[in-house]
Amino acid sequence: MTSFDTTRLTAARLWVVSSPTHSSPPGCDAPRGLAYLARGLYALIPVATPAVAQMSIDEQWRLYINPDWLADADIPVIGRELVHLLWHLLNQHAVRARAVGVTTQTREAWHFAADTAIRELCEDSASGPEDLPIWEGDPKLTVEARFAQLSTARPDDTDPAEDSPDADDDSHDHRDCGSGADGFVRDHEAQHLPDLPKVTKVESDALRREIAAAAGPSAGRVGRWVEDVSSGPQVPWQQVLAGAVRRAVSHTAGRGDYNYRRPSRRAAVSPRVVLPSPHRPVPGVAIVIDTSGSMSAAALAHVLAEFDTILDALQLGEHGVIGIAVDTAATATPARRAADVLLVGGGGTDMTLGISVAEELRPKPELCVVFTDGYTPWPDEPVGGMTVVAALVADGRDYLPPTPEWMVRVECDDVAATVR
Ligand SMILES: [Zn+2]
Repeated sequence: MTSFDTTRLTAARLWVVSSPTHSSPPGCDAPRGLAYLARGLYALIPVATPAVAQMSIDEQWRLYINPDWLADADIPVIGRELVHLLWHLLNQHAVRARAVGVTTQTREAWHFAADTAIRELCEDSASGPEDLPIWEGDPKLTVEARFAQLSTARPDDTDPAEDSPDADDDSHDHRDCGSGADGFVRDHEAQHLPDLPKVTKVESDALRREIAAAAGPSAGRVGRWVEDVSSGPQVPWQQVLAGAVRRAVSHTAGRGDYNYRRPSRRAAVSPRVVLPSPHRPVPGVAIVIDTSGSMSAAALAHVLAEFDTILDALQLGEHGVIGIAVDTAATATPARRAADVLLVGGGGTDMTLGISVAEELRPKPELCVVFTDGYTPWPDEPVGGMTVVAALVADGRDYLPPTPEWMVRVECDDVAATVR
């Protein structure tokens, strides 16, 4: 980690939160007067790195900054970027991206949708970067609905991001806001994860509520965000997990009723289509269970019972599941229900072992759900023909370790995430 001079960062925060004075010339360089954002701006943890072009954020509120960019950029430009990145965190764009199953193939569309919504949040105060993309459809749509439209409504040979209103100005394509915008951990974030301070999930929720309280009831987009924070709809983890299972099933069984999976041109380059087989109408489900982690038996049993309910609702449980308990060795056991999978006592905690056992089963399961505390090595590469879901059992912890980008991540924390 390089050290750097944060004076300009401080000046940029002040530009955002200070009230314009009478002596400030009218126009775009006067301070924005957004005092309610102060708590959020000062909670960001600056990290200098040449790996980002400008600035990006992760889910733990680390603000990665290219020191050369910081030294050169105008203070209002830095301030506008700060506001934009902070809104990604305040809107929980990473959690929400996971909830709708954003993949590496669709994350550009998600990011585009999220940035159009941030542009609208910044409009009244003229506090956002001027090159954020514009949403030309119904402005009442949520980011999720915009994302769904981008993922489905366009011709398959069109990349959602390519014919954006800013297509002639490619600055948006160069902006990578980081995992705080989409939940995909970047390399430059991962290498710092063990030793950096962080804002925990609990602190992040508290900050969001404090900032909403500071903003108070107001008109426009920000006012709607304030209302959403206090009374917004919730996405329980069960719904996120069910969504992940449904997508895996529609993907593997060719059931095409899930919009987000519509093939894009990029996906078509490497199709992974498995046609429905008359011999195998129900996709196989393998369950890998970490039996050595910090999860209590009660928390694990609860999560497995919820998973059975999901399988029942999707009518996937009728052929049973294959349970794989991982300790020092991995053993596969057929079971009627996830909750029946025998829990074998402690030992090692390497989920790659369990996933490789699932991969070698014949017929190969289409879906492998790994229930773990997250403190495990993972395979480096995706497993061909098998969707792997990391179901992280929080059991009271407010920080859950990162998972590889190619896996589907679900945080089973029983504390529903506030969205919108
Ligand atoms: Zn962004």
